[in-house]
Amino acid sequence: MMKSLGIRTYGSDVLRSESKPVEEFGEELSEFLLRMVETMLIEDGVGLTAPQVGVSRRIAVINPEPENEKTLIKMVNPKIVAFSDETEAFEEGCLSVPGIRGNVIRPIAVEVTYLDEKGLERRLQADGLLARVIQHEIDHLEGVLFVDRLSIAKKMLIKSKLRSLIDGNGSKE
Ligand SMILES: [Zn+2]
Repeated sequence: MMKSLGIRTYGSDVLRSESKPVEEFGEELSEFLLRMVETMLIEDGVGLTAPQVGVSRRIAVINPEPENEKTLIKMVNPKIVAFSDETEAFEEGCLSVPGIRGNVIRPIAVEVTYLDEKGLERRLQADGLLARVIQHEIDHLEGVLFVDRLSIAKKMLIKSKLRSLIDGNGSKE
């Protein structure tokens, strides 16, 4: 039975911390990756990182086509090693910033290295939505959220919404 790990939202400290690299590979990591994939499906996301479920580790699961198991990528310690000069604006949202969407300018293509579930080195070239999601998720591992990358005008527009997300967290903790 699938169960969500629960999503940390804007105002939660773990979202603003730099996540630590994973050093141990094995059953525990595989189990956690599985739970993350399930959580991504339940929460209806195309990407999810460990800090978003309260675990400050450099782990991301990504699937631009959620119904297609073949497009699922599990990334451990991912790193962008090259990106295109060409950029574009595209509307983003985030499970950790509910109710807010906005245009973010990013390179249209990236090359990323990462370790797979078994600790084997992988390299991937991506463009389009996949490149977009990879960059958004790796930002999370640095404690950066897409709202940080919005225009100043847009930031002003969403200021009170962000404030109420912070207040929501405060009353829960
Ligand atoms: Zn996000």
